[in-house]
Amino acid sequence: MIGAHPDDCDQDGGGTAILFAKMGHAVKFVSVTNGDAGHQTEGGGALAKRRKAEAEEAGKRFGVAYDVLDNHDGELVPSLDVRLQIIRKIREWNADVVIAPRPNDYHPDHRYTGVLVQDAAYMVGVPNVAPHIPPLKKNPVFLYFQDGFQRPNPFRPDIAVDITSAFDQKINALDAHKSQFYEWLPWIGGYSKDVPQSDADRKKWLAQNRTIKINADMRKSLEKWYGKEYADKVVHAECFEICEYGTQPSDDDIRKLFPMLKKG
Ligand SMILES: [Zn+2]
Repeated sequence: MIGAHPDDCDQDGGGTAILFAKMGHAVKFVSVTNGDAGHQTEGGGALAKRRKAEAEEAGKRFGVAYDVLDNHDGELVPSLDVRLQIIRKIREWNADVVIAPRPNDYHPDHRYTGVLVQDAAYMVGVPNVAPHIPPLKKNPVFLYFQDGFQRPNPFRPDIAVDITSAFDQKINALDAHKSQFYEWLPWIGGYSKDVPQSDADRKKWLAQNRTIKINADMRKSLEKWYGKEYADKVVHAECFEICEYGTQPSDDDIRKLFPMLKKG
């Protein structure tokens, strides 16, 4: 999973990552920027260092590997240099599935992460590009994280993963990003006064805050993958859209790649 900041994959795909890791699959989160702009009173190298430590702790709590690339936060552009960094990361991991934001997100870093991963989608197989690392023999399946943006087209939940059993662990892992969930995001969102004081109250508050409401389209996708009876009982889900680049998976391929999808 490739996000722009050291808490993006965590929020958008963390529950799915936990389920993969528990089944013995190797999951890596990559943050394309170092997060050095994501605070109201801290910044620069000191903040980047704090966020790297938070990402490492979150990675442990999720059960995944976590890489933070040293590009400035808030200044990401879809350059050749960063594209090559991403091609290398995908090749080194020999990824079967790559998940990234859609390129119509509100945040330029998210948007350009989406563009950068799209730009890498074909090039990971081209031997003369980044020739020091062998090209992938099989093009991965590329997916998008869920978002609420409507233009030019709304997110389509092609795959819906029931993360209900992983939700508490996901919240506990998100809690590692203290600089974000309890400091920066409340400050920029104008709700700092809502953040509870004690650790236990904070986690409860975070769980309420980070619950994504399952809408009709998401429920329909859950029904497709799990059957209606099971889908009706799902409380928490993460959805993904299939990108038109890379390997185009059939439903059977998706069931192989996402073995947690089981007709109930
Ligand atoms: Zn972000």
